Amino acid sequence: MMITTKLSIHDKLPLTCSRKGTCCHGNRVMLNPWELVSLATEKKITPREFRDLYCEFGGIRLRFDGTDRWREKPACSQYIPDFGCSVHLGRPLACRLFPLGRQIQSEEVHYMYQGDQFPCLDGCPEVSGLPQLKVGEYLKGQRTEQFEKAQDEYLVIMQNLADIAFELLLDTGLAESGDTETLQLWRIMGNELPEKLADRIGHEWMDSLMIPEITDDTEDPVLFARNHTDLLQLKVQAEFGSLQTNHEFHKASVLMMGIALHLARGLGANPEILVEHWIETAKKNGAME
Ligand code: SF4
Ligand code: SF4
Repeated sequence: MMITTKLSIHDKLPLTCSRKGTCCHGNRVMLNPWELVSLATEKKITPREFRDLYCEFGGIRLRFDGTDRWREKPACSQYIPDFGCSVHLGRPLACRLFPLGRQIQSEEVHYMYQGDQFPCLDGCPEVSGLPQLKVGEYLKGQRTEQFEKAQDEYLVIMQNLADIAFELLLDTGLAESGDTETLQLWRIMGNELPEKLADRIGHEWMDSLMIPEITDDTEDPVLFARNHTDLLQLKVQAEFGSLQTNHEFHKASVLMMGIALHLARGLGANPEILVEHWIETAKKNGAME
């Protein structure tokens, strides 16, 4: 089992980066919609162009298909050999935090790293000779604040989307009708590959989720996420406002849950664990499997 070393913001670590770029190889960098805008702005292209050129699974993950290799691991699509990150000012939270991770438990934010050895020491052992920094100082230097806000706003949107899936199951008479297929499909989606789930969601909803048509307030993650929430609610209303049959409610509930799970993966959550939690909640409220 992977050991997690939890940190306080006062812990001092060899957090001065030697800029060798080893962590820009063979890594997984997940994205939320605001981070896609941030990357596209830095690249001077549209979010759609950035998504189509450099991302996987509808935009929730950066491609690591660069030509450069380190220990046989391919570089990030944004990595330029002998230069470094081509989108440094717009880089996502995962890159700003590395080698740290961020978790929210009981509404409290925790920072940590995986393993019992500080991760940079493997690829960049020279960091042990560089100045140590407190975790809080490191986060400030990496300007994580806006990116952490975006992450938190999108966690709320994820829960809102799941709540719509719950309402379509529990408040429409679908669960009371004895339906068992909806929860079965929720579980299948929580366990399926991201490319499969992206296919299931389809282009139109995927675009609404990952590249919403928002041109104002794009620098402010909180306003951006609120505008995004409004757009998603309008689409839900337009598409689900006049549903009538149990089959229609079932399909809509499955779609909303699929979108919530896909966004969850982009936020670094584990869809397998999350879907079990949501299934249990639905069962406690009368749904059956
Ligand atoms: S592994 Fe650590 S020290 Fe090396 S480039 Fe990445 S963040 Fe910097
Ligand atoms: S976005 Fe930049 S910092 Fe992040 S992995 Fe890619 S090249 Fe490295």
